[in-house]
Amino acid sequence: MSTNEWPDSKWEPEEIIEGLWRLRTPMTSEALPWVFAYLFKTSDGLALFDSGHGTTKAQTALKAQVEGLGFMMGDIHSLMISHAHPDHLGMAGWIKELAPDCRIMMIDVEADWYSDNGRGSQNWVQQNNLWMIRHGVSESEILAEGKTFNKENDVGDSGDRDRSWFSSKINPDVLLQDTDLIEIGNWSLQALWTPGHTPGHLCVYIPNHDLLLTGDHVLGRITPNVSMSPDDEHSGRDPLTEFLESLEKIGQYKTSVGLPAHEKLIPELSARCSELIVHHANRCAEVMAGIGESRQASASDISSRVTWNKPFAGFSIFKKRMALGETLAHLHYLEGRGEVESHADQATAITWSLT
Ligand SMILES: [Zn+2]
Repeated sequence: MSTNEWPDSKWEPEEIIEGLWRLRTPMTSEALPWVFAYLFKTSDGLALFDSGHGTTKAQTALKAQVEGLGFMMGDIHSLMISHAHPDHLGMAGWIKELAPDCRIMMIDVEADWYSDNGRGSQNWVQQNNLWMIRHGVSESEILAEGKTFNKENDVGDSGDRDRSWFSSKINPDVLLQDTDLIEIGNWSLQALWTPGHTPGHLCVYIPNHDLLLTGDHVLGRITPNVSMSPDDEHSGRDPLTEFLESLEKIGQYKTSVGLPAHEKLIPELSARCSELIVHHANRCAEVMAGIGESRQASASDISSRVTWNKPFAGFSIFKKRMALGETLAHLHYLEGRGEVESHADQATAITWSLT
């Protein structure tokens, strides 16, 4: 039996403080089995921070927990979305069906990014294949997987795929900006714009209790994915600089505990932010050493020389794309600091050298 079956008799909604629980719903991949939503009981109903995947399993799990606490899904009047990835946003459309008055809130930048991106389209797949080739992945390697790179690969192979992200777009009702106050009933919360993992990632501070909802911006054990996409390259976005600045920002808030979207609570949030900053400094050093080995190298070659959580040699083409995106995020960061430079030649892959 898979570890993310529901119901799971060992799990009860976890009360963080009075009137705030964390709820757990299954992911679609075994590597990261759960995503957490946070439920506020307010003087006028319920509010959620994040939802979960738009799968039947996850919906059933969320509903069972809300009802188990004595509430109804129709009581949800506010849904704050940390960022527009399917495990956070996927269930939003379904929640809106059960609670038509529910206001969906996102950072304005994230709402723009979400409405612009055409993920899942044929064009997107082709664009990604061309992008990988431009950065040194061989065409035969992409084709050797037996299929061209497909976005759906990222939701695992459990058979319960979340197609909501690709098929039905939701429209946010409230566009938030950095430091906006979010008044929900008797709770006074603060929106914090924390770009990096995505361009408009939202963290939420609960000042009266020194709690901070971190979404995917800060996780306790694993390092959040900070990656460069073809669109980012086109727009000149520098996700790693964004991410490091957002870590500095969050690290300054007085918190008793960080409340992440995955895995365990974070007891020392500012220490964890510092660890992540060090992690990326180390990876920058590895990326530079990776160039140094051959004086000039493609991002694909460099990515094969970086230490990942598993050996690069065994990576699927999907994992290689992730590694390439992360490597490029570090290369662009280093380029912005004058440490490396890129060389574009129409006939061959883009290469990088130390300055
Ligand atoms: Zn995410």
